[in-house]
Amino acid sequence: MADTDCLFCLIARGEIPADVVHRDDDVVAFRDINPRAPTHILIVPIRHIESAAELTEAEGPLLGRLFAVAAQIARDAGVAEHGYRLVTNSGPAAGQTVPHLHFHLMGGRSMGWPPG
Ligand code: 5GP
Ligand code: ZN
Repeated sequence: MADTDCLFCLIARGEIPADVVHRDDDVVAFRDINPRAPTHILIVPIRHIESAAELTEAEGPLLGRLFAVAAQIARDAGVAEHGYRLVTNSGPAAGQTVPHLHFHLMGGRSMGWPPG
């Protein structure tokens, strides 16, 4: 998929508005438009990567950055102490609907396990 057609590339470039809670050169994070928990934030690499299935060791530093941002957002949102879920859906069977890698940070309620 070309970056011009990708929803999260457009949000990452600021061409589609979003409720952005973090932005740096590599990572953008914004509130999910259809929140499934009191805190539901999407953490997204700015570079287009289709899903976790595309990742290689070369993305190690980027993923380190992404997880550090997630941990900071969780602290800032006040969900770190009680706990939260950080999850990515890869491919249709997992329910991925936007084909640009993103992690859901969800908190503020109890989470069932395993996910449906
Ligand atoms: P997935 O289903 O791919 O794991 O997650 C995609 C997420 O993106 C969904 O939770 C959905 O609510 C969210 N989403 C879809 N379109 C938009 C949008 O235009 N803006 C924002 N902020 N979130 C979106
Ligand atoms: Zn993209």
